Amino acid sequence: MRFPVNQGRMRKPSPAEPDQMKTTPGLHHITAISGPAQENLDFYAGVLGMRLVKKSVNQDDPGTYHLFYADAEGHPGTDLTFFPWAQMAPARDGFGLSTEVSLAVPPGSLVFWSKRLQRYGVAVGAAETRFGEHVLPLVDPHGMRVALVESASSLGRPFTPWEGSPVPPEQQIRGLESARMAEASVEVSAAFLQDGMGFRYLGEENGWHRYSVGEGRSGQYVDVRDMSGARRGAWGTGSIHHLAWRVDDDGHQAEVRQSVTAAGAHPTQVIDRFWFKSVYFKEPGGVLFELATDGPGFAVDEDPAHFSETLVLPSWLEQERAAIEAVVPKLTMPHAA
Ligand code: ZN
Repeated sequence: MRFPVNQGRMRKPSPAEPDQMKTTPGLHHITAISGPAQENLDFYAGVLGMRLVKKSVNQDDPGTYHLFYADAEGHPGTDLTFFPWAQMAPARDGFGLSTEVSLAVPPGSLVFWSKRLQRYGVAVGAAETRFGEHVLPLVDPHGMRVALVESASSLGRPFTPWEGSPVPPEQQIRGLESARMAEASVEVSAAFLQDGMGFRYLGEENGWHRYSVGEGRSGQYVDVRDMSGARRGAWGTGSIHHLAWRVDDDGHQAEVRQSVTAAGAHPTQVIDRFWFKSVYFKEPGGVLFELATDGPGFAVDEDPAHFSETLVLPSWLEQERAAIEAVVPKLTMPHAA
């Protein structure tokens, strides 16, 4: 579905116009903070039926897991990851944070999902329509807002169903649909999205301003809302830590890194995350962004048939494997229901 461009919110021409700029093709992954790891696994693999494609540790805090859920192959754009920091205080709502992850489900599947979520006692909100699409909002076990979106354009995305999922292939989550961002100034954040990253304005509905890259299809947009009346939000369990955007390769990453720098951001140097290379920066409203390369991908260090069966550690932590495995909680894969 296409939305008219609101001329009133178009940015004035800037040195790097979106059509000349090589922008991101969409979301790469979203990372969030959860409570206890087993509860997180039970929900995302056991209830939502996503595949745990990688079990690793937070590279900056190796006593904490880093759990990656995606489609069967871990395609870029399907990946929702968590740092389970069980001892952390709950998130504080407010501006400067991404406040909801939406996940694409096939058109017509929300009846299935609604029944399934109720059966597992999930906190499900009232069904909504957003920009013409059916949406089921819910809250995960640690307070994070998640929305399932019946997304017609998700059907054209690269997706491999997970045969070990408790959810039938026809209803499985197809990838990241979008995210919501609460901002102190929509104008300032929108200017950055447009001038620095090549987004364009698609329209407004119920206070949410939609900005997209590419065609604005599944995985290619964010919804931004003015929350200037609130206080600044703070990370905690149940909060979204960062939104990662896809770049094709090192060269493309350098190009977009330069573009966001020109728009006023202060990106980090390139950090090798082994499954992709990353650059981090905050957009002007405070939401942490990442630019992540599509490759090499999750199969670089594990056979896809055996994803996440063992704890994967970066090479410099291998010598501490025994100590790390003693500290992180033992995880049991949920049984297919
Ligand atoms: Zn990331």
